[in-house]
Amino acid sequence: MTTDATTSPTTVPDAVPDAVAASAAYRSALEVIGAVEPRVAEAIGAELADQRASLKLIASENYASPAVLLTMGTWLSDKYAEGTVGHRFYAGCQNVDTVEALAAEHARELFGAPHAYVQPHSGIDANLVAFWAVLASRVEAPALERAGVRHVNELTDADWRELRRALGDQRMLGMSLDAGGHLTHGFRPNISGKMFEQSSYGTDPETGLLDYAAVRDRAREFRPLILMAGYSAYPRRVDFAVMREIADEVGATLVVDMAHFAGLVAGKVFTGDFDPVPYAHVVTTTTHKSLRGPRGGMVLAQPEFADAVDRGCPMVLGGPLPHVMAAKAVALAEARRPAFAAYAQAVADNAQSLAEGLTRRGARLVTGGTDNHLVLIDVSGFGLTGRQAESALLDAGVVSNRNAVPADPNGAWYTSGIRLGTPALTSRGFGAAEFDRTAELIVDVLSATAPTAARDGGASKARYTTADGVAARTRVAAAELLDAHPLYPGLELA
Ligand SMILES: *Cc1c(COP(=O)(O)O)cnc(C)c1O
Repeated sequence: MTTDATTSPTTVPDAVPDAVAASAAYRSALEVIGAVEPRVAEAIGAELADQRASLKLIASENYASPAVLLTMGTWLSDKYAEGTVGHRFYAGCQNVDTVEALAAEHARELFGAPHAYVQPHSGIDANLVAFWAVLASRVEAPALERAGVRHVNELTDADWRELRRALGDQRMLGMSLDAGGHLTHGFRPNISGKMFEQSSYGTDPETGLLDYAAVRDRAREFRPLILMAGYSAYPRRVDFAVMREIADEVGATLVVDMAHFAGLVAGKVFTGDFDPVPYAHVVTTTTHKSLRGPRGGMVLAQPEFADAVDRGCPMVLGGPLPHVMAAKAVALAEARRPAFAAYAQAVADNAQSLAEGLTRRGARLVTGGTDNHLVLIDVSGFGLTGRQAESALLDAGVVSNRNAVPADPNGAWYTSGIRLGTPALTSRGFGAAEFDRTAELIVDVLSATAPTAARDGGASKARYTTADGVAARTRVAAAELLDAHPLYPGLELA
């Protein structure tokens, strides 16, 4: 389905059932906040103005509805509720039980999952819950009794080795960071890379695509306890049926981290072998990226992991955030509506339009395109580093982030890539035509930008110049696009 500007599905008005009521609510709220610390009220107002004026192509960001946002600003925040629904370590949790049960029910229904745990405060927390649930379910660990407990930051590599040995030297195999994986999938400096002996799979150097045969070979050799799938910067679908087959063959537990693409699963853009829920033992996610909910995390699990997942608190979590669980329930209720499926389809269609628009104008894309919500430009084709491209685009009013490309010669700091995503601007009502225009603006800026000399006379990896007038002209064009598709239309703070 390709759409043009006039037929673009406009999804945000659906999420703002009553802009007048939302305006009144926010005006009153800012008055109350401003009476205590006016500078905070001002910053909140300024953030709305900034978000409205920004051509936001950051693939992990979105715009939650006023209903979701307002749900977080309530006294549900004041309640301690460690434990699970109906089984709390604090008295008086009946209303928290209501919202947590609702969020879990919506999550189970939306994703067709047997079990949902909605307490994790973030995506990283959700992964920690999942990892310890797998360890607790599958490893008979001897009691970890260490004399003289020290702060975890003081643990030496030898200490970690000892801890891993006590757990039976468990292994995790995940996608490498430079192929688009996430630091919680076994990256050395992250706790996941310390808890587990770690190995990673990458992508085919020629095509940039996941090489399932190579994943299978690596898994056979390495025999991980956990096979991780999921990504933050891989612009393609993953075949979870194959990943499960590989996991079964080597006796691994398949954990899929769908933090980035949960909205595409919820909206039934990813179905069959590309829907992780029927294939993974455990699925983790954030709720604030393409799913368009409050900032937080969630774990879905097959029945055999449900009890262990529910022990996320006290294992790695403290008290849940009841106000955020309530907002998850509201967001998941939104995601169960037909309008959300239309939104998710538009996110994917728009990514196609963006990718085609960039390619047609000469940009080189990692994997040559996309079949999800994100696009990764290899900006070395423009003679730039990711750092230079990111800054030049920002000067021109285009907000993106630099990202390593597979086997990046410029490393993780300067990088050679720019990651772009469509979820946020699609929430504003951008369609295929607007994304094609966005592609044009991006190529204009990158083509007009060149590295400047470093002190040693070579090309700098950070410094650049953009031809006169291009940034200013692009800012005007971006503002035109944004004005035609206002964020939270009708919501006025003054
Ligand atoms: C964003 C992301 C996370 C982390 O989410 P936070 O809420 O920032 O902790 C974890 N995994 C993947 C794949 C992500 O993209």
